[in-house]
Amino acid sequence: IVTISGLTKRFGSNRALHDVDLTVARGEVVVLLGLSGSGKSTLLRHIDGLESPSEGSLDVLGERVETLSQKSLRSLRSRVAMIFQQFELVPSLTVLENVLTGALSRLSGPRLGVWTYPRALRRQALGHLDRVGLLEKAYERSELLSGGQQQRVAIARALMQEPQILLADEPVASLDPESSEQVMRLIREIAADDGLTVICSLHQVDLALGWGDRIVGLRHGEVVLDTPTDGLTKSQVMEVYGRVTPTAE
Ligand code: ATP
Ligand code: MG
Repeated sequence: IVTISGLTKRFGSNRALHDVDLTVARGEVVVLLGLSGSGKSTLLRHIDGLESPSEGSLDVLGERVETLSQKSLRSLRSRVAMIFQQFELVPSLTVLENVLTGALSRLSGPRLGVWTYPRALRRQALGHLDRVGLLEKAYERSELLSGGQQQRVAIARALMQEPQILLADEPVASLDPESSEQVMRLIREIAADDGLTVICSLHQVDLALGWGDRIVGLRHGEVVLDTPTDGLTKSQVMEVYGRVTPTAE
């Protein structure tokens, strides 16, 4: 579903990614690990068509990303959802309205207010809120929710895109351990139920080990580890970080 070959990305003289090869199969759940600045976000942004490679190629959902027109890129992005460390909800809108904005790429024209969305979409949005356990918060302003709850709203919003791929860029980096576990478990459940392909960057090695099907380690923009999680030990993963420990960043 994703095939990346020889991907190099430079920002001026700074090389963010170097000769990255990565293949992800449909339904796979992949964790990206690496120190701050190792290129995790840059890699995710390429998969979402938000960056264009300096060298190399990316196939995502059967499209050759670097050759697409703006219009085709938009259509690709509507099938690839992304969630972020800072949730990126609109704070003043209700939870339900935030979730509904996930469907905007499926609609023509802007919407203002829950009642301007088709009834079928409102029902779908409420269904997704139920799935993430926040149905009772539908009409609350989203800024009143806890971090973990806001990330679950962001997941429900992502699902409104009916995506085939979910990209998660450090989705639990701002959350306490308990909410982190809950959010990660939820992503895993949804991936399994919907056959969703997930690529998720993380900082916590322990969380990563118990979670993904596969771990990809980046160091200075290069892939230095690409292994199934099964049977992988923590010390093998720690080599991704070289002599620096992830907590020393
Ligand atoms: P973190 O864990 O801090 O989020 P990361 O692994 O996501 O780090 P990236 O954000 O992908 O790392 O950054 C990789 C490198 O590319 C860094 O050296 C960064 O400064 C550089 N970089 C990323 N985006 C840009 C940009 N738009 N312009 C210039 N340099 C950039
Ligand atoms: Mg990042």
